[in-house]
Amino acid sequence: MAIMKADKLGVSVAKGPSLMTGAVPKKDWPDVEAIFKPGNYAYPAKKEMIEYHSKKTLPGHPGLFGEPRDWDPETDDWKLPENWKEIILNGIKERLDKFRSLKIFMDCCVRCGACADKCHFFLGTGDPKNMPVLRAELLRSVYRNDFTLGGKILGKMAGGREMTFGVLKEWFMYFYQCTECRRCSVFCPYGIDTAEITMMGRELLHLVGVNINWIMEPAANSNRTGNHMGLQPHTFKDNIMYLCDDIEEITGIRVNPTFNRKGAEVLFITPSADVFAEPGIYTAMGYLLLFHHIGLDYTWSTYASEGGNFGLFTNNEMMKKLNGKMYAEAKRLGVKWILGGECGHMWRVVHQYMDTMNGPADFLEVPTSPITGTRFDNAASTKMVHISEFTADLIKHGKLKLDPKRNDHRIATYHDSCNPARAMGLIEEPRYVLQNVVNNFHEMPENTIRESTFCCGSGTGLNTDEIMELRMRSGLPRANAVKHVREKHAVNMLSCVCAIDRATLTSLMNYWNPDVEVCGVSELVGNALVMEGEKERETGLRFEPLAGMEG
Ligand code: SF4
Ligand code: SF4
Repeated sequence: MAIMKADKLGVSVAKGPSLMTGAVPKKDWPDVEAIFKPGNYAYPAKKEMIEYHSKKTLPGHPGLFGEPRDWDPETDDWKLPENWKEIILNGIKERLDKFRSLKIFMDCCVRCGACADKCHFFLGTGDPKNMPVLRAELLRSVYRNDFTLGGKILGKMAGGREMTFGVLKEWFMYFYQCTECRRCSVFCPYGIDTAEITMMGRELLHLVGVNINWIMEPAANSNRTGNHMGLQPHTFKDNIMYLCDDIEEITGIRVNPTFNRKGAEVLFITPSADVFAEPGIYTAMGYLLLFHHIGLDYTWSTYASEGGNFGLFTNNEMMKKLNGKMYAEAKRLGVKWILGGECGHMWRVVHQYMDTMNGPADFLEVPTSPITGTRFDNAASTKMVHISEFTADLIKHGKLKLDPKRNDHRIATYHDSCNPARAMGLIEEPRYVLQNVVNNFHEMPENTIRESTFCCGSGTGLNTDEIMELRMRSGLPRANAVKHVREKHAVNMLSCVCAIDRATLTSLMNYWNPDVEVCGVSELVGNALVMEGEKERETGLRFEPLAGMEG
């Protein structure tokens, strides 16, 4: 969908009324209706997607996705099951019994407002219901009404609200205007994690068949072929071999990766976007060069061909199943441990949920670098090491021959991807790598990086074109910080360690900062690596001329 020019949208964000309601709200928030119109919602899941998931992905969990059907959010007939309220209330009860955190988050908010202006969706849309405190209140009000004594006796006076169709509409709108980035939780004095509330909200919506296609289709593909694009094994392999051809043309070095090789020491898994789409493919070329450079005994898998976990955006059962595939493949191949590429949600799942879902992975060994001997005790349970940790350790031990001058055509900054930064504390390692592979690096303002990083604005399945204006609005806080370093230091490259970011930040930069490109950190590593026997390099991994080689 075409959206207005960036300068106009910028003014609209600063001065205009709320995107969602079309007006500055004059009523109390429960009385402001959610109105769906083209551009403010992602398309619902296709009927066949729900049929697929019910039959193939989680056949042992009937009713998790509601009844397959076609429905239109813009109408008032969502073709819900007759007893949809009962399903939702039972779903809340079940989750309150199961997840202590949910009950705590429902009870302990003191409305201090510290989170209110920390959400990029609120900053970009000006819609009060995008304040994290109010987003949580959409569910909390129903909880209070039906699950607390005060609410049962006093109802509205105790902040309770009945579950109505209007409330369901709000849930669909605002739980899909949250990227589960957890920035708000950093500022909450009680540690309330609104992302977890959104996850519960989405699970409950699924129970009555309210969901979006840009999550359900990639999740179906991941279950069917192992990766979210639905690439067949031969295509996955061929794409990587094409990247090897490009590497040969640029460096004169032939790298020869293996696939599904039993007995390899390490299984390497990365988001499939690194294998098929720009700019991720250049990140993958960086991995290929690095592994060749150190002679790593590793294999790719065409079965576990996706690091990204679209289950995280759906429900716990789907997340568990898709995560389990990586470990099932590690077991089948008999590897010692798993090395993971630059992904966001893969790492959130591995670090926050793996142990209770599929772990501990006792059949694998505690990862030890075969090159440096470093034992990664931080991965003693998950048996999975992040490529930035692995590369930083190699550099620290002097195992890489690097020429950072080859990145002198890049003036880089670093976007902390939400999940690696906030969910696993991966903050220093990518910076250490960058400091060793580029000569020109500048940080964005302190309140927009590290634990306080601003989200790309399109994660958790919101990277879909029909909500482009919403995405450009929610990505504006991040884009503004990039603009700052572009104007101050002439930054022209935004690096990150997440495949969704590489896709979404590219659209975001094209819109707000068109002269800034986006890359993975491993691409810059690949550019800087001096390979034994290589020819003189004239271009970087994306065939761009190096500094001094232009024209
Ligand atoms: S998790 Fe992120 S997107 Fe969701 S409410 Fe908090 S800051 Fe906003
Ligand atoms: S910062 Fe925490 S306690 Fe304060 S309003 Fe937000 S969620 Fe509630």
